[in-house]
Amino acid sequence: MDDDQFRIETRSIHAGQEPDEETGALMTPIHANSTFEQDAPGDHRGYEYSRTGNPTRTDLEENLASLEGAEYGRCFASGMASINTVLNLLEAGDHVVTGNDVYGGTHRIFTQVYEDYDLEFSFVDMTDLEAIEEAFRPETELLWLETPTNPLMSIVDIEGAAEIAHDHDALCAIDNTFATPYLQNPLELGADVVSHSLTKYLGGHSDVVGGALLTNDEDLDEEFGFYQNSVGATPGPFESFLVLRGTKTLPVRMDRHCKNASEIASWLEDHPDVERVYYPGLDSHPGHELAAEQMDDFGGMLSFELDASLEEASEVVSSTEVFTLAESLGGVESLIEQPAPMTHAAIPREERLEAGLKDSLIRVSVGIEHVDDLIADLEGAFEAALN
Ligand SMILES: *Cc1c(COP(=O)(O)O)cnc(C)c1O
Repeated sequence: MDDDQFRIETRSIHAGQEPDEETGALMTPIHANSTFEQDAPGDHRGYEYSRTGNPTRTDLEENLASLEGAEYGRCFASGMASINTVLNLLEAGDHVVTGNDVYGGTHRIFTQVYEDYDLEFSFVDMTDLEAIEEAFRPETELLWLETPTNPLMSIVDIEGAAEIAHDHDALCAIDNTFATPYLQNPLELGADVVSHSLTKYLGGHSDVVGGALLTNDEDLDEEFGFYQNSVGATPGPFESFLVLRGTKTLPVRMDRHCKNASEIASWLEDHPDVERVYYPGLDSHPGHELAAEQMDDFGGMLSFELDASLEEASEVVSSTEVFTLAESLGGVESLIEQPAPMTHAAIPREERLEAGLKDSLIRVSVGIEHVDDLIADLEGAFEAALN
């Protein structure tokens, strides 16, 4: 399909998903298959072995590339496998500049896996372009960033950050999991690589784990293909099919996620038990203007601080009926969690408080249920736990 001609709502349903040539089947078949017939040695019809390439995976790769406005896409067994693949490009002695609030798993692979291979990492406040610039060294090869960040939804200036990376001949890679390609396209803003955890909004139904890398650079794409085949962390055809099923409804789901989150954020901001709300769609959010520029809407994730202790906040997140107490995000169902004892428990309390993550901070992944039911659920939990 010609990407320039169609909008994302159309591409999400049709890109990479032509009806099956042989049977006319509308839906991409699940090619549950490890090896492929060759007509003569080396003479095959595009596929030899499913780690190297599988037709269901190819359709997903084409679909995701189209959604990000990228020339090339590669899928992986998880978001972490995508991130690992970008790190595979580096060599011992290389240095990486990244955010001081990156996803916990990203922080872990950087410090607990790749520092052992002699990569060095600097963790800086990515909302401060000067701090990014100052962190660069002659051996810096990669700038890795996320925006909005987790859990305070800080907004990083993608165009400004990419420019700094390129001034230093480094690669700029962006984890676009929170925003999704429906709300933000980092390649258009100068990034070289976009990474996704397909586990979140792209899959969208909390039933599959996957990752992807998108780029316009043919050489990079070839390297990613080399690592898909050499390392082997590729998704199977069933996982690829599930994500394809998810991306078809990404635009309608995201519209509802954004609308619900925005209404809940405003309701929370006016609530007497709530001290502060972190949602980029609110005027009070320090990244609001930048978010309005580089995103099409403000997403389905928000956090808030209660006028309460850690224990009371724990009581709140344990008292909801519609919101499920769980980590992760991006599914159709609303989730609630408390970073201090859950997603961010590995950070020592002093360090956590310094980073602005209060004991009473609560993060929600707003689902697509009726917003009135979600608000009533939060109100009920506040009443049960705080009064
Ligand atoms: C979940 C997540 C990841 C890791 O993805 P998995 O699919 O769980 O491996 C990476 N980055 C962000 C921002 C995430 O939310």
